[in-house]
Amino acid sequence: MKRIVVLGAGESGTGAAILAKRKGMDPFVSDSGSIQGKYKEMLDAEGISWEEGRHTESAVLAAGEIIKSPGIPENTPIISKARAKGIPIISEIEFAARYTQAKMICITGSNGKTTTTSLIYYIFKSAGYNVGLAGNIGRSFALQIAEGAQFDYYILELSSFQLDDMYRFRANIAVLLNITPDHLDRYGFKMQNYVDAKMRITRNQTPEDAFVYWQDDPVIRKELERHPPVARRFPFALRRDDENCVAYVENGKVVFTGPLDFNLEQEELALTGIHNLYNSMAAGISARLAGIKKEAIREALSTFQGVPHRLEYAGTVQGVRFINDSKATNVNACWYALESMKTPVVLILGGKDKGNDYSELDELVRERVRGFVFLGVDNCKLHGHFDPTGLPTADSRQMDDAVRKALALAQPGDTVLLSPCCASFDLFKNMADRGNQFKEAVKKLA
Ligand code: ADP
Repeated sequence: MKRIVVLGAGESGTGAAILAKRKGMDPFVSDSGSIQGKYKEMLDAEGISWEEGRHTESAVLAAGEIIKSPGIPENTPIISKARAKGIPIISEIEFAARYTQAKMICITGSNGKTTTTSLIYYIFKSAGYNVGLAGNIGRSFALQIAEGAQFDYYILELSSFQLDDMYRFRANIAVLLNITPDHLDRYGFKMQNYVDAKMRITRNQTPEDAFVYWQDDPVIRKELERHPPVARRFPFALRRDDENCVAYVENGKVVFTGPLDFNLEQEELALTGIHNLYNSMAAGISARLAGIKKEAIREALSTFQGVPHRLEYAGTVQGVRFINDSKATNVNACWYALESMKTPVVLILGGKDKGNDYSELDELVRERVRGFVFLGVDNCKLHGHFDPTGLPTADSRQMDDAVRKALALAQPGDTVLLSPCCASFDLFKNMADRGNQFKEAVKKLA
């Protein structure tokens, strides 16, 4: 029997272990931290052995194959040892995909993955397709397959960490939204390593497959010259600079050309902001490539409700609008959030910095920002960058306090925007906890 070791017992690891067990393998689960109660119960119910608080080397290195959770960095000692021993290491997605025939529609990018994945799923569902949703979102892909999911299509959100450990997987439609610096701490602070991870989404694609991407992205462009993908290309852009571009905006209309052949008014799009225009184009192209009718796509693109913590309206207090963009965990996401603001902004930002360069925000800060609240354990770098603007700043380590200070800096008609540029782990459980606390704090004030 093949010995499978699963490292990390979160949503993906637990699912992978259960799938392995149901496929007749002998999984062992090892987590160096503590395992949540619900995952322990699931593992126990299947009779899967597990350990927490350590990785027992002899047990882990006895594996025929290791399934590594995306949260575990490559430079963890146990991973180095497994590599030295030549044990194959794969991701949960790679593993689960071996057991399904569903067509794979996969979305990656530095920003916009969850929004675009959810939007594509919504279009497919609304059109009556038999479709599943998984990846870096919702319930574990492997667990769904273990439970016997029989979908014709899967819409998969893929992070760079998942792509890192994928080898044989093939995306029938691969969507690459953008590549901007993120997670550099996990990539030896080398941008190219991170870019390479993202480009793995095209790996194993054939000429029958489709590669959908943002044509204006300088990083993607450069990569395509270096490693032209074999799949058919479907680039989208704001303007049609060359004839290859299959989706763009012209006279207020979003145009889908060639075989896609449909259009809709930009104003009809349910999601606002230029970034969501791109997300909508990527979704429209993917849906059309899967044969969904134009009318169904148009309808879905104009009725989609959005995803929590992404430019989510949180309430108005004393004439000041509060917007929760807790999911903006890097500088580029915050840039798009600021770009979509129509009023002066008090920006709440800060948290666990991942090697951020805040100068990208300078121009928008000059144009739109009235003041800052820095919400992190260590705000030195933020002060270092933003104090020279001369704009007022306040420091906080607690959400109620941050929201009150932001309101004090704002004037009626302004927007308070939580768009932190940073991870949340220094002060919050995760980005959803940060966003929920923000919404609660606004409610209390109102
Ligand atoms: P991801 O899953 O890649 O983190 P989300 O859809 O959760 O992406 O959005 C994360 C953040 O990025 C949000 O703050 C959102 O406003 C911003 N964003 C969404 N789509 C894009 C895009 N296409 N380009 C840049 N920023 C985006």
